[in-house]
Amino acid sequence: MQIACLDLEGVLVPEIWINVAERTGIEELRATTRDIPDYDVLMRQRLRILDEHRLKLADIQAVIAGMGPLPGAHDFLNQLREKFQVIILSDTFYDFAAPLMKQLGHPTLLCHRLHIDGDGRVADYHLRMPDQKREGVKALHHLKFKVIAAGDSYNDTSMLAEADAGILFCPPQNVIDEFPQFPVTTSYEELLSAFIDASVRV
Ligand SMILES: [Mg+2]
Repeated sequence: MQIACLDLEGVLVPEIWINVAERTGIEELRATTRDIPDYDVLMRQRLRILDEHRLKLADIQAVIAGMGPLPGAHDFLNQLREKFQVIILSDTFYDFAAPLMKQLGHPTLLCHRLHIDGDGRVADYHLRMPDQKREGVKALHHLKFKVIAAGDSYNDTSMLAEADAGILFCPPQNVIDEFPQFPVTTSYEELLSAFIDASVRV
């Protein structure tokens, strides 16, 4: 039995923080782990900026609801779910992903949670566990499933390495160069074919 594990941002939905920056016009929110490698420093900065602009969870959720999934993502996911049990392993937060999950038909999502205070302010964030993408694949292996995983970025590579087959989807050039062992796909058609090819091999 095989399970498909998918990254969320950059694979099924746009990069959430970058789009929130664009849609709110707050340039500072564009920073990612490429700019600030320490995730905790980056998240503290994001939460401070939200506070400075008096943006509450509901404001951000409204922005995210307007983003929608990437074009074709919902159809791709439906096709993938016909062939595999699909689990999305993401480093985003349930509170942010909820409006997008609704538009994707509520697939299974394992991610992290924000701490929202009584006023609806984003007060803090909680990572469920470190390196949860890799740990998710390990846990599925422990349950005797084969795993085929796909992601677009650096933070997916431990998940792809742990899986029985790993696939890159529209990755940046530095990830392609550094991880030549993973096949690169650039459309949902190619990604679906790569999953089906891998399922024969693993
Ligand atoms: Mg991603």
